[in-house]
Amino acid sequence: MVKAVFPGSFDPPTFGHLNIIERGSRLFDSLDVVIAVNSSKTPLMPPEEKKRLLELEIGKLGLSTVRVAAYEGLVVEYCQTIQAQVLLRGVRSMSDFDYEFELSVLNRHLDSGIETVFLPTEPKFFVLRSSTIKELMRLGGDISAMVPSSVAVSLHNLDL
Ligand code: ADP
Repeated sequence: MVKAVFPGSFDPPTFGHLNIIERGSRLFDSLDVVIAVNSSKTPLMPPEEKKRLLELEIGKLGLSTVRVAAYEGLVVEYCQTIQAQVLLRGVRSMSDFDYEFELSVLNRHLDSGIETVFLPTEPKFFVLRSSTIKELMRLGGDISAMVPSSVAVSLHNLDL
C-alpha cells in the first residue's frame, strides 16, 4: 500500500491543485492533501476555509481515497505520522523545478525513506499560481477559469 501526501499553501485552492490531486489519487492507494499552516504568515484564507473548499471539490470529483488535513509543522513529520512513503508535488516551470528540487533534497535529508514524486502541470493550468489569482482578484479580473466557483464565492466574500 503506497500512501502519498500532497502538501501546499492552497491559498486559494485552484484547478491546478485539483488536477494534481485527481491524477495523484490514481497513482497511490491513498492521498492526504495537507494544508501547511504557518502561524508567522497571514494567509488570504484561513486553513479551515481551505479545508472546507478542498473537501467540497474533492467530494464532487468522487475521490474517496483522498483526505484533507491542516498541519503546522514539518511535512516530513506528517508523512511519518501516517507512514506515507511519497511526497507529491506539481511543477509548472523550470523555476518551479529549481525550487521543488531543492525542497526535495532537503526533505530527503530529513527522511531518506520518503520519496518526492513530481507531476508536470497539465498545459492549460500552466499559468495558474496563487499570487496571480490574488492580484487578479484585487484588480477585479475574471478568475472563473482558474478556481472552482465555490472558491471564487469564498474569495469574493473576503476583504481584499
Ligand atoms: P502556489 O505555488 O500556487 O502558491 P502551493 O504552495 O499551494 O501553490 O502549491 C502546492 C503544490 O501544488 C506545489 O507542488 C505546486 O507546484 C503545485 N501547483 C500549484 N499550482 C499548480 C498548477 N497550476 N499545476 C501544477 N501544480 C501546481
